[in-house]
Amino acid sequence: MFNSIVPEVHRQGLDPNKPIETKAVKQVLQSVADGDPDRYKNISHAILNLGSRAALQTESSLTLNDLRSPIDKTKLMTEVDAQERSIFSNPNLSETAKKNELVKLYGKLSSEMPEAIFKASYAQGNRLSNMVASGARGNKSQLSSNIGSDWLVLDQNDNPIPIPIKHNYAEGLESAEYFGSAYGTRSGLVSVKLATADSGFASKQLAIAASDLIVTKLDCGTDRGIPVEVGDGENIGTLLARTTGGYAAGTILTARTLKAIKDDGVKNMLVRSPITCQAESGLCAKCSGVRERGTLPPLLDNVGLAASSAIGEPLSQGALSAKHKAGVAGAQTRRVGGFKAINALLQSPEIYPDGAPVATQDGVVTKIEAAPQGGHHVYVGDIKHYAPLQQNLIIKSGSRLEAGDPLTNGVVSPADVVKYKGIGEGRMHLLKSLRQSFIDNGLPDNRRNIEVLARAAVNHSTVTDPDRTDYLPDEVVHHSALENTYQPHDDTISMHPSKSYGQYLQKPSLYFTVGTRVTPNVAKVMEDNGENEIQVSKKPAGFDPSYIRLMDHGSMKTDLGDQLSSSYVASSLKDTVLSGKAKADIHGTSPMMPLAYAIEFGQKSKVDPNRVGY
Ligand SMILES: [Zn+2]
Repeated sequence: MFNSIVPEVHRQGLDPNKPIETKAVKQVLQSVADGDPDRYKNISHAILNLGSRAALQTESSLTLNDLRSPIDKTKLMTEVDAQERSIFSNPNLSETAKKNELVKLYGKLSSEMPEAIFKASYAQGNRLSNMVASGARGNKSQLSSNIGSDWLVLDQNDNPIPIPIKHNYAEGLESAEYFGSAYGTRSGLVSVKLATADSGFASKQLAIAASDLIVTKLDCGTDRGIPVEVGDGENIGTLLARTTGGYAAGTILTARTLKAIKDDGVKNMLVRSPITCQAESGLCAKCSGVRERGTLPPLLDNVGLAASSAIGEPLSQGALSAKHKAGVAGAQTRRVGGFKAINALLQSPEIYPDGAPVATQDGVVTKIEAAPQGGHHVYVGDIKHYAPLQQNLIIKSGSRLEAGDPLTNGVVSPADVVKYKGIGEGRMHLLKSLRQSFIDNGLPDNRRNIEVLARAAVNHSTVTDPDRTDYLPDEVVHHSALENTYQPHDDTISMHPSKSYGQYLQKPSLYFTVGTRVTPNVAKVMEDNGENEIQVSKKPAGFDPSYIRLMDHGSMKTDLGDQLSSSYVASSLKDTVLSGKAKADIHGTSPMMPLAYAIEFGQKSKVDPNRVGY
């Protein structure tokens, strides 16, 4: 029956003798969506109807057999008992070491049990495991709680509790097991409530930060772009920044053109990106690329808001995964993960969770010594840096570092990258780290939308020299606006990147922004991407790149409508009014005023394409 609904081309790789599980259904639907979008609706409805009909016609009910343990538990328990005894009777282990050994033993069982229970019960035709396999309800770890055992659970602080949960719900838990496992369950329930609020708050801030990235022109005319791998699936819909593999600059990349470029032997290329768009305000359609509409976005399309919702929505689902785990421990190394890691990237708190120390100046690692409190002291030149105990060093004596390079395998704060390497490198760092965090947390790969967000999130500089721009000293301004009014120094010359070490960019190049100090690493990226002439000066650009945490973005905007929807409303409104910069422009890039007046909103046909903004 399935075969009569789904054409053969979309059934490639399916084994006709195996049940069709969630993964297979997803694969089929993806294939239909890519190859046969017009029939997607009909085919997906037909599969749904087939499932509903089958569920109605074939009866299925749970029996006591389904609650029996699928593995020989007596044998397993005897083995575990023996291991426990050998740990307890080992005279060389202190009490703490014994506890750690037990936690290790239970942790291993805890992480292996769900898969083992699932495999064994599925082979026996257990109906609970059928439900998990079909994707209808439950997951392997819940199945294991019911008919296997949890072994190790976490307390409210995510620390393992050294009371093994040897029984399952079907057998019934002993009192100690019950009280032990209740910690994790309670913390799971509480974290769902908090996570929903936290991720909701983060989504709102994303929307405020990105809401002025509307399409203000069709083409900003830039030849800049970000370097990407040709095989990266997220390239579909972007435009080539340079002529590549026989295709002219400006070609919209499709699966077919990408394949041709790859077949031509090209591995890396430059594509247009919101990160490198040079529109005076907002973004241009070509740097935004083909998005959810299937075409280049029309003028006034709010690409920023669409991208922030696309990122915010899975974020709240990712945060909710805490509930599904319900405090059962895995044996992975404990690193900051999930929503906490993503939120830290966006908010860049001063005490960064699992943050890596970075070199504060260029130089060679001259000495590494053990620190009395644990961890290491690393000397870059004569400057002492502290590397915490929990992190591993990734440098050694003699390593040559540039300011902003990490010393350990911890997480590098975007604020450090922006401070030491500039706005452009900061945007790329945020893009790469956020993208990796999404993938690590099982969220959809979302490079294109994160590019929009990286552009919005890393976009502030503090003015130090008023002669180069229209702004006052100490003013924190939007970097893109600053760059547009920037006056290069008189000694600016055109040079090859490798000859410009230590000098400062006066004109943006690739994703590097004005003011970036050219270092051997910067020059290498430029050369690799065919940038052989850059505009540099020996003098710094007259502003310091600054990473503004997402929470403060709204109050840094000058549009009163934006400020009303931000945090710290009273103080930010007062500051903007006192500085004389307050405006409430219904033709600006902020969607707030047109929304408040209910004019020009969504009325695309009446809008003059030459006018910027709504
Ligand atoms: Zn552009």
